[in-house]
Amino acid sequence: MTDFLPFTRPSIDEETIADVANVLRSGWITSGPKVQALEAGLSEYFGGRPVRVVNSATGAMEIALHLMNIGPGDEVITTPMTWVATTNIIINAGATPVLVDVDPATRNIDLDLVEAAITPRTKAILPVDLAGLPVDRDRLYAIAKKHNLRVLEDAAQSQGATWGGKRVGSFGDLCSVSFHPNKNMTTTEGGALVMNNAEEARLFEKWRLQGVTRFPDGTMDCDLPGGKYNLTDVSAAVGLGQLKRLDAFNARRVELAKLYFEQIDPALGLTMPVWSDDSNWHMFQPLLPLARMSISRGEFINRMKDQGIGVGIHYPALHLFSLYRARGFKEGMYPHAERVGESTVSLPLFPAMQNEDVSRVCAALRNVLLPVLAA
Ligand SMILES: *Cc1c(COP(=O)(O)O)cnc(C)c1O
Repeated sequence: MTDFLPFTRPSIDEETIADVANVLRSGWITSGPKVQALEAGLSEYFGGRPVRVVNSATGAMEIALHLMNIGPGDEVITTPMTWVATTNIIINAGATPVLVDVDPATRNIDLDLVEAAITPRTKAILPVDLAGLPVDRDRLYAIAKKHNLRVLEDAAQSQGATWGGKRVGSFGDLCSVSFHPNKNMTTTEGGALVMNNAEEARLFEKWRLQGVTRFPDGTMDCDLPGGKYNLTDVSAAVGLGQLKRLDAFNARRVELAKLYFEQIDPALGLTMPVWSDDSNWHMFQPLLPLARMSISRGEFINRMKDQGIGVGIHYPALHLFSLYRARGFKEGMYPHAERVGESTVSLPLFPAMQNEDVSRVCAALRNVLLPVLAA
């Protein structure tokens, strides 16, 4: 019996583990030189723009809403097909998430629907690059410019993806990335915000740590109610080891995605993700042909597990969670997101996978699906 293949797994090398041990022995384990080095490395990665790190992308986006002055009475336009962090932060800021449906092919926010959702209260657009496939940045920023809106790019899944030959986050307005263990690079937990200028970065630093500014003479002041979001040097050491390997990780993901496209049996009736050279292939997510299947998605996942293959779900359409139903959202409002949410499955995809692992997954798909498909 071969080992169980999870849908994702981080790759941490021995050099990074040794560097974490060095930090732990150093006597300084919270935010310090490693955080500064990680921010400098990320700034270089994002074309020289200012970058600050925090202990989650959720936190980075919460602070981003402060930077954009978004609060009660404001609306933010976003997608129902994302991790619920994207919309929870809007509610927590006292603002209103305005959802528009996704494009059924890309599964990203349908930019054709965005302009109709703009009202005098709209402050920002919050696009998500699902599975690492970038939202059309040209159209996005044309809409934002025309209506004088801010943009917060939720690039939690798309670090290293490109648009028009440029890295996501190296241009545009605010852009957040995640270093959760499932993402394309990790700090165990963590996230970062790419910003426009030093002024925003200074304000970010205040929101990140209790609103405090320290002066050269040793005195301090607090002029806003900041939180506790700082990343530790222990985490930053992990991130420094990961950032060095990120391009290689992403290149390997692209190779594995190509193998899936070559090897998944078309007779299984899966709806494939759209191919894009711009994607960092954060996830590989076909849609199941549920109408033709005599078993549910849950049973499909159980049977894949019996075949030694881990399968994830990213994500149920979030407007059907009870918090959102209580706010008036219901079935039928976003039919494309609902269909994706019901039928999506995330197949194993992570840099340490071998080519043979893709073949194993494709064989398991045949074993599980062929017997349960109606003609
Ligand atoms: C992972 C993720 C987040 C949250 O990132 P954390 O670092 O876990 O807070 C937000 N949005 C999307 C689209 C994500 O995939």
